[in-house]
Amino acid sequence: MSENCLFCKITKGEIPSYKVYEDEKVFAFRDINPQAPVHILIIPKKHIGGLNTASEEDERILGNIQIIVSKIAKQFSEMGNGFRLVNNCGADGGQTVFHIHYHLLGGRVFGWPPG
Ligand code: C5P
Repeated sequence: MSENCLFCKITKGEIPSYKVYEDEKVFAFRDINPQAPVHILIIPKKHIGGLNTASEEDERILGNIQIIVSKIAKQFSEMGNGFRLVNNCGADGGQTVFHIHYHLLGGRVFGWPPG
């Protein structure tokens, strides 16, 4: 836990969230400002600032998150035809909360390239 980290506080229940998944190491909740009919954030409980500061010891948890994403997506009929998984990394990548998180978006058709 990193003091004053919003997402660490969400994993601890100190700040309320709409939880959709939790296990010993991973937490997932609905984004407060959804950009698609389904917009879920998946985060490790361990405080990792971003993908640019992740280390080899995070390999297992970050890999595991992708399998959890697949399981969560199956719970939402809106994701039946596919979904998008996004990681914004660093200021230029659009990251605003510096606890690594993956956006799982679904329920509409997405364009490419992203903005
Ligand atoms: O990738 P980025 O860092 O910009 O994403 C942060 C996300 O966290 C935003 O989509 C924002 O809506 C979400 N958020 C949230 N609950 C909060 C604060 C931010 O779901 N209390």
